[in-house]
Amino acid sequence: MEYTEIMVRYGELSTKGRNRKAFINQLGRNVRNTLHAFPNVKVQAHRDRMHLKLNGEPSQPIIAALKPVFGIQTFSPAIQVEKELSVIYQTAIEMVKERYEEGQTFKITTKRADREFLLDTRELNREIGHAVIEAIPGIQAQMKQPDIDVRVDIRHNGAFLSSEMFHGAGGLPVGSSGKSVLMLSGGIDSPVAGYLAMKRGVELEMVHFYSPPYTSEAALNKAKDLTVKLTPYVGSIQFITVPFTEIQEAIKKEVPPGYLMTITRRFMLRLTDAIREQRKALAIFNGESLGQVASQTLESMVAINDVTNTPILRPLISTDKTEIIKLAEEIDTFDLAIQPFEDCCTIFAPPQPKTKPKLEKCIQYEQRLDVEGLIERALASITIEEINSRDQFLQAKEEDFTDLL
Ligand code: ATP
Ligand code: MG
Repeated sequence: MEYTEIMVRYGELSTKGRNRKAFINQLGRNVRNTLHAFPNVKVQAHRDRMHLKLNGEPSQPIIAALKPVFGIQTFSPAIQVEKELSVIYQTAIEMVKERYEEGQTFKITTKRADREFLLDTRELNREIGHAVIEAIPGIQAQMKQPDIDVRVDIRHNGAFLSSEMFHGAGGLPVGSSGKSVLMLSGGIDSPVAGYLAMKRGVELEMVHFYSPPYTSEAALNKAKDLTVKLTPYVGSIQFITVPFTEIQEAIKKEVPPGYLMTITRRFMLRLTDAIREQRKALAIFNGESLGQVASQTLESMVAINDVTNTPILRPLISTDKTEIIKLAEEIDTFDLAIQPFEDCCTIFAPPQPKTKPKLEKCIQYEQRLDVEGLIERALASITIEEINSRDQFLQAKEEDFTDLL
């Protein structure tokens, strides 16, 4: 069926009172951004619904592209026809035929905004139902939980028919909760933390530390590829690379092994916070989960967190590794994340990092280092690039569109 529009129902943003308009506008921008490859689509955002007029653009890839957009609860592709009874009957018949399998049931549900229309909703349900039964031998009407549920909406500007409803991604439109930076490694956890942050409406820029020549180009590319996996939720993401070699070498030289990890993390956080400020972002997200490794005990967090007052948000703090892996599989970052490239943290990792580091000791050891100079030089050589989605939805296949509600 070649649909003419898609009707989008908002999720949680309906409850946001005076902010509602800003939320809807943000969602409108995100949808336009996501559908940039379909220039003829017209997005009309109203208070209760959003209508996407397809203007000849293909509905299947657009449906696939809408699925990851946060802020959408459900959406239904619809076809607009003239308000002619014979045309409405014919369209309903085609719609049912396209999906009908032997033994299935159907139902017609009509809504009528146009009170002047020839028939009322009861008559319309009955007449369209009859037309379908006559055209498809053996099909049965069923009011409760029919297999095929055709909705007919008689509006002033035409009749709209739909029979499919897709789940949206839920959450809040990305950008509606402000901007933050995500500390993105090449591991399993941080991309999942990023996904969860975006789901609550946060626009993210990625901060990635790398230490050439100790870490390879492949490790850097892996972090970028993980970022690509998160672009369907937003369109494009700024990826900030921070050269970390000089700092890691200096720490290695001056700091006792037990405190290498803690002090390395304190530098990472200082740098991330400075970048956050430059980029006018509000908070820092990371992929920490309580107790997962030595740097993620409460004692470590106290010692590391001490370098800033900026909120550090940890969406995964209470999730088990198995739960994180499940999410990583759902967002398709798992297979990439488990590729074995060395991360800058593992390269210099001591065999036994302190799980209960003392803040006074960190401060004491850092006096051996030119903290300011090291930070300044690293900041002077960061690079920023925009990572775009690789239009993966344009190649989406037929079987991706089957999750009917
Ligand atoms: P992940 O699975 O995300 O790599 P991890 O299991 O490797 O995390 P850690 O190495 O302890 O755990 O890292 C904890 C968090 O610190 C990461 O989730 C990430 O937010 C941040 N982090 C670690 N390494 C880097 C890096 N090279 N660049 C940016 N952030 C990093
Ligand atoms: Mg981790």
